[in-house]
Amino acid sequence: MYPQDTKPATPPAEPRCEECGCAEMVYCWHEFANGTRHVRRSCASCGKWNGFAPRQPPFTEAADQQRFDTAALDALILAEQEGIELVSDSRGIFLRPWNKASERLKRAVRQQQHLLASLLGNTARRN
Ligand SMILES: [Zn+2]
Repeated sequence: MYPQDTKPATPPAEPRCEECGCAEMVYCWHEFANGTRHVRRSCASCGKWNGFAPRQPPFTEAADQQRFDTAALDALILAEQEGIELVSDSRGIFLRPWNKASERLKRAVRQQQHLLASLLGNTARRN
């Protein structure tokens, strides 16, 4: 389904959490402002971001399991419900205020940030 990078068949061992040492990680898709997609690695225990995993199974499969079917729409609805402003520069999205946004909203935005920003246009300029 997704273009596969040329990588060894056996994925490299995953690191332990930089914050708490937990060995269990959660994988989610993260779309950068340039439209490229990456597998974001977060600690299952404390939630700290632990960089990006190789874009290959089993990490891509784990990210697919966390995937929103309608991430851009979900982000709009969740932002409205939570009173969070989606600020777009037409390439990427910033949440205002960031610290009040739920993890679910942050995850929905990360999954389709570039598409969402493209749809919203440059909202930062209007403020
Ligand atoms: Zn942790």
